[in-house]
Amino acid sequence: MSLVDTAKSDNDRSPTRKDSSGDLPPGLSTLSVHAGESRHKPGDSITDPIFCASTYTFADTQSIIDYIEQDQTREEYGRYGNPGERVVERKLAALEGGEEALLFSSGMAAFVGLLMTKLNTGDEVIFFDECYHRSREFCKKHMSRFGVVTRQVPTGDYAAMEAAITPQTKLLISESPTNPQLSCIDLERFADLGRRHGVETLIDATLATPYNLRPIAAGVDYVLHSATKYLGGHNDLLAGVVIGSKENMDPVRNLRGIMGAVNGPQNVYLLLRGLKTFELRMQRHNENGQRVAEFLENHPRVERVYYPGLPSHPYHEIAKQTMRGYGGLVTFLVKDADWKATAKVVDSVRIPRIAPSLGGVESLIEQPLVMSYYECTAEERQQYGIPDNMIRLACGIENAEDLIADLSQALDNKDD
Ligand SMILES: *Cc1c(COP(=O)(O)O)cnc(C)c1O
Repeated sequence: MSLVDTAKSDNDRSPTRKDSSGDLPPGLSTLSVHAGESRHKPGDSITDPIFCASTYTFADTQSIIDYIEQDQTREEYGRYGNPGERVVERKLAALEGGEEALLFSSGMAAFVGLLMTKLNTGDEVIFFDECYHRSREFCKKHMSRFGVVTRQVPTGDYAAMEAAITPQTKLLISESPTNPQLSCIDLERFADLGRRHGVETLIDATLATPYNLRPIAAGVDYVLHSATKYLGGHNDLLAGVVIGSKENMDPVRNLRGIMGAVNGPQNVYLLLRGLKTFELRMQRHNENGQRVAEFLENHPRVERVYYPGLPSHPYHEIAKQTMRGYGGLVTFLVKDADWKATAKVVDSVRIPRIAPSLGGVESLIEQPLVMSYYECTAEERQQYGIPDNMIRLACGIENAEDLIADLSQALDNKDD
């Protein structure tokens, strides 16, 4: 694997660092700092410039003709991409160990872009049912308008998924870990299921990141991330990415150029900047998640903790086999608490901020009943596995002792 991509972009004329034979492939931090970038950048700058351009110029008419006829790699118009975006795409492909990464303006734009490219009227998709509610909503409410059928089977029930496959099935979709229950998928089994039936597979690995999970190596066709979360990492941007083979991604890139769900140059720079510390941040998120989960599991006011790094978690064995760490998200139930007593715990914390999202340096806390499922019926919440006393804590990179002391005082603050 070469550290710096060999893509023949206009500003990438530097000699590419070759693998010296026998060397280990670069580590994730080396990749997140250097991969995808030119060794020599405009203005001798160490950082990539932000090209604030909506369009790109041609020297003369012949240059346009050459660009088209020779299929040259260069910029043309901002909706088809920008130089910074290509740098981040090469970096993310290197981090994921995939051939081609394609950036979108959000995780949902990436999901919509991929499904709109791949699915036709009459096609079917099958989901494991614990999933990001907007992904489900897009399929059930919107893809259905174009004649695409969505089937859901219980998370982790591979036999049910296999039984739901028909000749019309085009895509198997799962998250791993899922949100907010943090169930983990046996990726090789999932990928094998798709391969045996000639159906492509998609894993939304937003909660795991390429630090904790390697879906491409397990044979999964597409990996999707909301880069808004751990990849950006600072709660200051929205972006999404899909990674897959070049052959599979080319048509998705073409549709993105028509949809226009692209990132502006400044946003892409924020993502590039955030990615530099990716591995360091993940190590701390993993450490905080594990320590907070262990603290909560031993707390008398906690009924149950969902964290794949705990032996009590139903998916702990699969998580141990497939994951390097278990991330910063910890879900728990407050013992003998109705929704109000649960809200009191949320309102009593002093460090985590009350907000949706996860994966940034700041810890965030929410009660799923109120934040994402308020408009659902009680039956729907039960079906999605969202009890009233559930709290979802997304550990940031603060010090674990401080987070634990804060949770301790919040759980003790029972009545005033
Ligand atoms: C946040 C999230 C998304 C959606 O990403 P956006 O960047 O908010 O559009 C999709 N899947 C998972 C698992 C997420 O956490």
